[in-house]
Amino acid sequence: METFTTNPPLMDNMGRIIDYARISITNHCNLRCCYCMPDGAQPDNTTLLKTEEILFICKSLSEVGISKFKITGGEPLLHSNVIELIKSLKQLPLVDQVTLTTNGVLLSDKLSGLMNAGLDGVNVSLDTLRPERYQKITGVAALHLVKQGIDDCLKKGMPLKLNCVFISQFNEDELLDFAELAKQNILDIRWIEMMPIGQGKRFETISNLQILKRLEQQYGTFKCSEKKGNGPAVYYEHPDFMGKIGLISPVSQCFCNTCNRVRVTADGILKLCLNYKLGFDLKELLKKEISQLELSEEIKRMIYQKPKRHAFGMTATKLETRNMWQIGG
Ligand code: SAM
Ligand code: SF4
Repeated sequence: METFTTNPPLMDNMGRIIDYARISITNHCNLRCCYCMPDGAQPDNTTLLKTEEILFICKSLSEVGISKFKITGGEPLLHSNVIELIKSLKQLPLVDQVTLTTNGVLLSDKLSGLMNAGLDGVNVSLDTLRPERYQKITGVAALHLVKQGIDDCLKKGMPLKLNCVFISQFNEDELLDFAELAKQNILDIRWIEMMPIGQGKRFETISNLQILKRLEQQYGTFKCSEKKGNGPAVYYEHPDFMGKIGLISPVSQCFCNTCNRVRVTADGILKLCLNYKLGFDLKELLKKEISQLELSEEIKRMIYQKPKRHAFGMTATKLETRNMWQIGG
């Protein structure tokens, strides 16, 4: 008789299948991106989950149906155990994919270790290709290190996506420079709309709707790709391009009805929606020495309560007041 080892999919109260978690492993960062982490921000060290606690939570998540993990932060490559953590996650039987989002400053140094650990892909956050602008946005003159990390990923065959946020009247003129990278290399470029969260509230959101139009004026028609990633990006292909163009448009085109994700912050809060304060303190449960199975059952109950949609542009109560570096993006 045939036996089945996989669990039924994990669903919330809207019938959405939840199979993806963003796990923040630190709230420290070596950059100070103007829309994310203000100068003088003081990450709290005392509440951070330990590596074994992160793994314990991820194991419970995987056992209820989360099969894809994104390691994030703060800057995850600052975490001293990031490689061991990824290796352990990759060994969990129900985990299909582990990827990482990074600012790329330490990528070149860590790439071999990450590849040996089995990492499935890297997203590098990069908003400009010009050194002076890079320093203005991030506060650090490190663009050359990020570029080295990108080159090394391309040389070594690590699947790569670049994530770019447009800051009004600052870097929009680099649209075609970024597009050229996807034309000439096997990498995807994705534009993420500035979200009014934390420091992001200080900036205007540039709608992604104009991006495709501007690219088509330059290169001709792009075709909407059938390939879906793990999340909300809509991908476009062009016969002259080696990589794809991706648009992530949470503000101009709400995609909450297909949301498949939850988040765990570096201090152990399970967050069900980026935009709301609502969260469940997993660290408190761990203190009570809860078993793996009990934690899985708790997580299942929590995820069922996932909010229907975000409230960008609306008046709502109980909204998230933390910054992206405290959430993980
Ligand atoms: N430090 C890593 C990095 O930069 O990729 C991981 C954490 S960072 C918080 C994750 C992502 O959030 C980055 O791509 C960053 O550009 C994005 N982000 C931060 N604040 C944002 C905002 N207000 N709106 C849109 N994206 C934001
Ligand atoms: Fe750090 Fe990433 Fe936030 Fe930039 S976006 S300050 S790199 S956490």
